Amino acid sequence: MDNCVFCKIMAKQIPATVVHEDDHTLAFMDIGQVNPGHVLVALKQHAENIFALHDAQAAAVFRSAAKVARAIRAAFQPEGLSVYQANGKAAGQTVFHFHIHLVPRHERDGMELTWPVKNPPRERLAEHAEKIRAKLA
Ligand code: AMP
Ligand code: ZN
Repeated sequence: MDNCVFCKIMAKQIPATVVHEDDHTLAFMDIGQVNPGHVLVALKQHAENIFALHDAQAAAVFRSAAKVARAIRAAFQPEGLSVYQANGKAAGQTVFHFHIHLVPRHERDGMELTWPVKNPPRERLAEHAEKIRAKLA
């Protein structure tokens, strides 16, 4: 896709520091490196976000993410690892070509995600669940 930075990486028009490649995915170092060993696992084919994925792509990208996560753990021995994936500007997505972040984590490493729980009553959970179930394809 024109003007998509990750499509340019896939086409080798701009460089990337690659750690893993298979039929559907390319894993490469995030240029920003929130922590050392921060990797992005992206689809080779352009898909803007999670809503655009075919089943085969969805399966392949998480299989690749799990494989690379194991290698990051072995290589960097982090205390933890966060999997982060944003869809849409409101969710923090800045590159609109599907990718999963694998971020090695350490205590007090400064990476923060606020998690403003609402703890609604159980009846509300049931209402929300029913709305979602009705839309499952
Ligand atoms: P997101 O905000 O989830 O869409 O993440 C986009 C990520 O892509 C950011 O963490 C950037 O540092 C990273 N990024 C942008 N351009 C490049 C590039 N040319 N090579 C590697 N990572 C990149
Ligand atoms: Zn793209």
